[in-house]
Amino acid sequence: MSKAKFLFIFIAFLFSFSGFSANSITILIDPGHGGKDPGHLSKTKGLMTEKELNLLISKKLGHYLEHNLSHVNVLYTRTGDTYPSLDKRVEIANSKNVDYMISIHCNGSDTSSAYGTETHIHGYNSKDAYKWALLIEKQFKNRAGRKSRGVKTGADIGHSLQILKFTKMPTVLIECGFLTNTSEANYLNTSYGQEIIASAIFRASRNFLKQKHSNINFTPSENNVSNEASNGVTYKVQLMSSIDPLETNIPEFKRLGYDVERTKVNSKSMYKYKYFIGPFTTKKEAKKAQKSVQSKGYRDAYIVMFE
Ligand SMILES: [Zn+2]
Repeated sequence: MSKAKFLFIFIAFLFSFSGFSANSITILIDPGHGGKDPGHLSKTKGLMTEKELNLLISKKLGHYLEHNLSHVNVLYTRTGDTYPSLDKRVEIANSKNVDYMISIHCNGSDTSSAYGTETHIHGYNSKDAYKWALLIEKQFKNRAGRKSRGVKTGADIGHSLQILKFTKMPTVLIECGFLTNTSEANYLNTSYGQEIIASAIFRASRNFLKQKHSNINFTPSENNVSNEASNGVTYKVQLMSSIDPLETNIPEFKRLGYDVERTKVNSKSMYKYKYFIGPFTTKKEAKKAQKSVQSKGYRDAYIVMFE
């Protein structure tokens, strides 16, 4: 064997023990605020606080990552209404040897006209985080139809965010929209809006991971999830819509055997409340559910795809 060839094999051997070829990835999701710290508040009464929305979006994102990608483990800094300090969140990230961290927030401003998404990173020299952040903002703009305010660094906002400054792995902090802007707050308060935001972050993260770790096969095996689901698409069955909100635990819904979800949409129509069952990860499952509820009287029930 030539010296050069030997050296090449030796280096390849070393790399097989380094992080570059680790065969699974751990992502830490950090739902911002929690417990005693509600975060930003909406101006409209009855809407959720930032800490609640952060948790809902985080869980949807975690679900997408876990169910639609192979070789990805998801951890959370909190899964309930608790307040881990910023020090604690950094400590979890650094001590659990996670590969990537995503912190989920919603924004606020003194001027109610400010709206749109932002993805924060420590600095442009955090190359992986920067690449990832660009992909996230691109998805928000091009696929989710949000206004992207772009990628921001500590220098842009005049101070470093603790989570970004002290974590050792590539970390992004996402501001999903402004709760101080009425229409954005309304959007983020719908499960539809939360799904769209979470799936945009999912798709960007999937693209980023695929570019970064070409040695890992992130495609889930056929047995686990269908190809449809691997695109971050889910399906729900819309049962009906109404002018006034109906409780979702009424006997008319209960007899269907599915949990019914009510969503208020921003539309010119009088029928602002929509009722769904799901989400289902494949169209086949959604069709089965649709047939079942149609046979129980909801003849107009139809399938809605969420990307
Ligand atoms: Zn926040």
